[in-house]
Amino acid sequence: MGVEMMAAIDKTEYATHVSLAGGRIRCLRCTAQSSRTKKQCGKPAMNSSTTQKCTHHGGRSTGPRTAEGKQRLLQAHILHGEHTKSARAEYSKDSAKLSMLEDCLHVLGMDIQRRQGRKAAGYRAVRTMEAVTEFVRGLR
Ligand SMILES: [Zn+2]
Repeated sequence: MGVEMMAAIDKTEYATHVSLAGGRIRCLRCTAQSSRTKKQCGKPAMNSSTTQKCTHHGGRSTGPRTAEGKQRLLQAHILHGEHTKSARAEYSKDSAKLSMLEDCLHVLGMDIQRRQGRKAAGYRAVRTMEAVTEFVRGLR
């Protein structure tokens, strides 16, 4: 039993949506795991929940409000650093580089599908051949 309880939860087999009212309503499903049955919670997640949880599994939580609570969250054990401030800054920097690389390919005459929308922080448009060479030198 101990081995089974230590097994990691495979989130890939989790259902993201649940059908209600005989299939007329389709909404996000709570991603919590039942401690008793070890199965995914069957309730619909709250719209306001940022972590896709139902009312029984923390969907109403708005996170720490007080400075003390926020500090406690920073001190808490975090499973992965995917959403830390420094990790997001790194993703943003890489995303800006990717957008600039797309610009370079466009300047070089390659027909590529460019990403639409707002560019990440640190993005500078690359429109001339000189800017392309400068950007490529900067990558090294
Ligand atoms: Zn739930």
